[in-house]
Amino acid sequence: MDAWVQSASSCEPIPLTQARPRRTRQGVVAWGDHRVTVGGNAPVRVQSMTNTDTADAVGTAIQVKELALAGSELVRITVNNDEAARAVPYIREQLDRMGVNVPLIGDFHYNGHRLLSDHPACAEALSKYRINPGNVGRGDKGDRQFAQMVEIAARHDKAIRIGVNWGSLDQDLLARLMDQNAGRSEPWEAKQVMYEALITSALESAKKAEEIGLNGNNIVLSCKVSGVQDLIAVYQALAQRCDYALHLGLTEAGMGTKGAVASAAALSVLLQQGIGDTIRVSLTPQPGEARTQEVVIALEILQALGMRAFVPSVTACPGCGRTTSTTFQELAKQIDDYLRSSMPVWRARYPGVENLKVAVMGCIVNGPGESKHADIGISLPGTGEAPAAPIFIDGQKAMTLRGDGIAREFQTIVENYIEKRFGEHA
Ligand code: SF4
Repeated sequence: MDAWVQSASSCEPIPLTQARPRRTRQGVVAWGDHRVTVGGNAPVRVQSMTNTDTADAVGTAIQVKELALAGSELVRITVNNDEAARAVPYIREQLDRMGVNVPLIGDFHYNGHRLLSDHPACAEALSKYRINPGNVGRGDKGDRQFAQMVEIAARHDKAIRIGVNWGSLDQDLLARLMDQNAGRSEPWEAKQVMYEALITSALESAKKAEEIGLNGNNIVLSCKVSGVQDLIAVYQALAQRCDYALHLGLTEAGMGTKGAVASAAALSVLLQQGIGDTIRVSLTPQPGEARTQEVVIALEILQALGMRAFVPSVTACPGCGRTTSTTFQELAKQIDDYLRSSMPVWRARYPGVENLKVAVMGCIVNGPGESKHADIGISLPGTGEAPAAPIFIDGQKAMTLRGDGIAREFQTIVENYIEKRFGEHA
């Protein structure tokens, strides 16, 4: 017996996979009675950002509603000028009228101190202010303007996110750290100095905010970069050096599959290590693509990691030479679309339905086995198999479907199962 076989036969049980518990402070981002806890033991929250002109109060309120219905628990809006600041209370009012309680975050750069001072109704209607320390001004003037925003947040009992971004890093701080580095006997690489500048900017700003009087539980930090390995390195270091709640996101993630995959790669590594209390997928929408796609991907990341459940999951095989037709692909898509589109209504009507697992499989090889692991599964006939599709419910073969109406019949079976298991008479 060789060494490899020996070690395999005498091995210990493999530990169950578990994300490291997070140890951040827990705060609240609230609007009215609607309270979203962030950090501590709260679930990882999903954020998104509008791309409408905030001065267009109606258009912005509609997009915020769409994002919230898609599953975004916090929505950020740009507040870049007086028109936008004036629109904020009306956006809030319209959302309240539509029954959309999602907290709004104001995204401020350069003139946030003035906009928040000149528009107290805007300061009140927002639940959280995003402050970029690299864009509040330089030197003493920057310090005063930062303090002005934090004082307004403290006065209105609002949370803030100190959102550092490598595209707008505090240049004075970077110069200071580069000077320090030049004095080292073994200077760091330029990238390490940049990492340190991002983290120092966030931590020094948070310290100043607490000194000004803001409760540390109301402070969230972020240090966004656009490279996956850079993001992982920066957040791992940041998480070791503070217990503030952290907002994660790969900035400028890009478009389509590139943006989705890069975000998933970076966020998954960190989330699995217990790093990250809120997330955003900064996806560039493809022409004609809904803004809500960034929310869908964020939900998928958390659900794929088993950290949260938002929509019933559909397990489908990729298909291969054993697949006789595209029937199973169409059925998988149809069921997936149906479950997703039903969720806005089902969330209230069928509590717990988001944990449902459906399997749609292409042949007998893995079909029955995978279907038995799901709550409801269908194994479609592959090449050479009899034209019959066994249905498995709660691990047991329940029936067999035949003929052209399989898709419709399967959807009815899923509907009945949901009503029976999650309906009010369940
Ligand atoms: S379940 Fe069957 S059809 Fe699907 S990938 Fe496996 S072998 Fe191919």
